[in-house]
Amino acid sequence: MTRNPTYGHELRHDPADLRRSLSGASTVPFWLDTAHPDPLPALSGRTTADLLVVGGGFCGLWTALQAKERDPDRDVVLVEAKRVGWAASGRNGGFVEASLTHGRDNGRRHFAAELDAIDALATANFEGFAETIERYGIDAEYEATGVLSVATEPHQVEELRAGGASVLEGDALAAVTRSPVVRGAVMHREGGALVNPAKLAWGLREACARLGVRMFENTPVERLTRTAGRVIARTPRGAVAADKVALATNGFPPLLKRLALRTVPIYDYVLVTEPLTHAQLQEIGWVGRFGMSDNSRQFHYYRKTADNRILWGGYDAVYHAGRRVRPAYDQRPETFERLADHFFTAYPQLRGLRFTHKWGGMIDMSTKFVSFQGTAMDGAVAYSLGYTGLGVAATRFGAAVMLDLLAGETTSRTALAFPTTKPFPIPPEPIAYPAIQTMRRAIARSDANGGKDGALIRIAEAFGIGFDS
Ligand SMILES: Cc1cc2nc3c(=O)[nH]c(=O)nc-3n(C[C@H](O)[C@H](O)[C@H](O)COP(=O)(O)OP(=O)(O)OC[C@H]3O[C@@H](n4cnc5c(N)ncnc54)[C@H](O)[C@@H]3O)c2cc1C
Repeated sequence: MTRNPTYGHELRHDPADLRRSLSGASTVPFWLDTAHPDPLPALSGRTTADLLVVGGGFCGLWTALQAKERDPDRDVVLVEAKRVGWAASGRNGGFVEASLTHGRDNGRRHFAAELDAIDALATANFEGFAETIERYGIDAEYEATGVLSVATEPHQVEELRAGGASVLEGDALAAVTRSPVVRGAVMHREGGALVNPAKLAWGLREACARLGVRMFENTPVERLTRTAGRVIARTPRGAVAADKVALATNGFPPLLKRLALRTVPIYDYVLVTEPLTHAQLQEIGWVGRFGMSDNSRQFHYYRKTADNRILWGGYDAVYHAGRRVRPAYDQRPETFERLADHFFTAYPQLRGLRFTHKWGGMIDMSTKFVSFQGTAMDGAVAYSLGYTGLGVAATRFGAAVMLDLLAGETTSRTALAFPTTKPFPIPPEPIAYPAIQTMRRAIARSDANGGKDGALIRIAEAFGIGFDS
């Protein structure tokens, strides 16, 4: 039977009130709304490198850093089209999740035979992530808090129970969160942490600089060619001739044609409130530092910042026809109103609270929700993409796989089929847009239908195709 789910498309609050709560909010992502490190020079003229890394988000930064850690004498150059950390890496929720498979259930669906080995690598990667931040003294506001997984629908409580963990209800639930829409929750203390993502990106940039990585900002690579055993990366005012190249360009238009249909750019949106007082936090029962996410297919994620604002994101996942990526898409008033509506549904106690920041960003969705790596140009170029909505920790792993592949080494990572298994491609237009819209509607129906998937989702999943953020 279809019922109105807790969080729906239709607004439950007066739109004028919602607009008021959003008025005056900055369109700059909260994490980036602060003094930036000094810009790095743009590349001018020709240079050479043992390894060229293209892209200055987490994936590129982890690649450059680990390349230097493996071989300090290696000449590593990183080029970034705009500023380091401006894109997904500096504007995400800051949830650091150990899982490399978008959760264990999704891992079992696609990589059952390798799941235990993948989870062991995921734990090692998660630990290595925290250890690296510590070792380089990066102030990324890292907090090993865990995540509270909350159920807002009856069937989600059953799903939490089926997971085997103890479900918090009644007083135990009220001790961690007080919201009229939360029916039960499970605390996952292990494998979940929080960071300030922009500070992490800038801290990694600083660590790379200390190890001698030569970095250039405002330097987009326009084209890659292979000449005399080297890869030539052309930029507007110069070129890099490199022995090896690592592509860490997320869902931006890829430099390799073969990647064009492997992922789709999906926009995800976030609000941040003004800081909450201790009394307000007590009123909503959220005195711990852990982040939360609900268990709907169209889910929300929420967490506190260092100064006790609430970051509230998720739900809508928007695809623009033609796989277009545009700065204008970072703002979407109708989604912001819906997110504000859902926020006050979750926390009616906070009525009157204002949002200070609203933004969106592009995630790179793969149909398995899992990143993948591979090589091109006779093994001289490696790529890593498709992190979907969980790339903060996973990019460190993807970076390591790229370096393994470029070295031609079999490691505990490349011995598995998982990293190089390609997701089912998503066809070009005119098929992509209607197909994705149909899938989105099916997912909304599934949430409204007690989590029961319709035929479309079941058939798609049988082919290993999913849609998620
Ligand atoms: C709103 C939002 C919330 C999210 N929340 C979370 C979360 O809480 N936890 C989590 O784990 N993940 C989250 N994610 C996903 C996560 O942010 C990404 O998976 C991760 O940051 C990807 O890192 P990246 O380096 O691959 O991509 P990016 O950060 O996008 O970096 C790619 C870089 O490559 C550059 N580039 C592209 N093309 C070229 C070129 N031709 N030449 C030079 N440079 C180029 C771009 O300018 C960009 O800076 C979220 C994403 C968004 C958008």
